[in-house]
Amino acid sequence: MEEQPEFGVRHGGGIGPVGDGRTIRVVLAEEHVELADDPTLQDLRQALIEAEGTDYGVHDPTWISRFTDMTRQAASYRQGRVLLAGDAAHVHPPQGGQGLNTGLQDAVNLGWKLAQVVTGTSPDCLLDTYHAERHPVGARVQHIALAQNALRGTDPRTEALRDTLDDLLGMDEPRRRYGGLVSGLDIRYDLGEGHPLLGRRMPDLDLATSDGPLRVFTLLHDARPVLLNLSEPGGFDVSPWAKRVQLVDAGHDGVWNLPVLGEVVAPPAVLVRPDGHVAWVGDLTDSGLPDALTAWFGSPTDA
Ligand SMILES: Cc1cc2nc3c(=O)[nH]c(=O)nc-3n(C[C@H](O)[C@H](O)[C@H](O)COP(=O)(O)OP(=O)(O)OC[C@H]3O[C@@H](n4cnc5c(N)ncnc54)[C@H](O)[C@@H]3O)c2cc1C
Repeated sequence: MEEQPEFGVRHGGGIGPVGDGRTIRVVLAEEHVELADDPTLQDLRQALIEAEGTDYGVHDPTWISRFTDMTRQAASYRQGRVLLAGDAAHVHPPQGGQGLNTGLQDAVNLGWKLAQVVTGTSPDCLLDTYHAERHPVGARVQHIALAQNALRGTDPRTEALRDTLDDLLGMDEPRRRYGGLVSGLDIRYDLGEGHPLLGRRMPDLDLATSDGPLRVFTLLHDARPVLLNLSEPGGFDVSPWAKRVQLVDAGHDGVWNLPVLGEVVAPPAVLVRPDGHVAWVGDLTDSGLPDALTAWFGSPTDA
């Protein structure tokens, strides 16, 4: 831009600098929904003049795009060999900044399952858990995106509603819940009843191991499942799954804090999937452990 605009949020959009210090990002609301053609520099100039009284001498756009408040979700994320993830599975207005995050988590949920089915480690039905787990998450994101969109109005009723919500979000408990919702850190896949960790994202705790200190997430860098034993070492023979599952004996000194829930009882052992979600909680003598290993990581094999 030849002239310097005032940066800030306005007109249902905003003007602000991009990281390179030279480019400026402009988001503007158009008077009519235009979907037929790709937007042009001339459209941008026109919209700037209407909103700001000047086009600030805008030139050389690196990218111009249009989006609307459309909010849609595919009825199914899987049809046979066709799988949908990201914006192909769900689109919604970007105010909450959740689209990319949700799409990446779809991909991370799907990737290891797809690999196991392709290599014959797991049966085809493992792929159905992708839809079962991620579709409700997408639906919830759409729900909150619709609510955020309803708050964009400038009429007195909407402003009063926004003020009321502002008050609520000034309080700890509503803020914690809403933070968990928009960040996706409160996601829990329905893997049955049990310890609050079951189906939730494993926290990135500091662990003490015989090889020295390490963080939980470093164990997930190989995209392999981890059976983390936090009680007495030994007690379970993991060798039938040894090629797939890492068994790590470790200790954690401190409380277990989960987003939104707060402190939870320390588990004796957890089975963490490659996407970081907890598939099983118990101690290593628990008879449910072989079932959980088989359900998620395939039948036992000879070591
Ligand atoms: C203004 C705006 C701000 C946003 N801000 C945020 C934010 O702050 N945080 C956040 O999490 N999300 C945000 N989002 C949402 C985020 O951009 C999307 O959710 C994300 O980019 C979707 O990624 P994707 O890979 O699923 O799809 P896309 O990014 O749409 O990628 C699909 C790709 O496929 C290509 N393609 C299409 N058809 C074909 C074909 N037939 N053959 C080959 N290639 C094809 C397309 O060209 C495109 O490159 C924002 C979106 C908008 C519009």
